[in-house]
Amino acid sequence: MSPEDASANSNTNREGTTPSIGFGLAKRAVAAVKSVFLAGKHYAMLETRVTALEAQFERHPPDVCERCGERAMRVVRNGGIMGDSHGHWRQDDWKCERCGYEEPRIVRF
Ligand SMILES: [Zn+2]
Repeated sequence: MSPEDASANSNTNREGTTPSIGFGLAKRAVAAVKSVFLAGKHYAMLETRVTALEAQFERHPPDVCERCGERAMRVVRNGGIMGDSHGHWRQDDWKCERCGYEEPRIVRF
């Protein structure tokens, strides 16, 4: 058996060291594939969240209710414009669609 045959059957090269370059490359390739997979998952999760946010803003978003904290306050009645040459205002009535809380709000122009 020649020295070349011996090295071909073992896990060492001619210098007697373990060939680790191929293994390191495979490890890096697996890490790269993993990171691409994780980036794809992250992208899909972000797309889901953006779609949910877009759905929330299809209509004018409601205001926050001071009583229950939900984003459910909507104008139920617009008052007439009042005022004089110094300024104008309007009183609107707001109502929470969740808890029913109502409050008047003055809008100044
Ligand atoms: Zn409320």
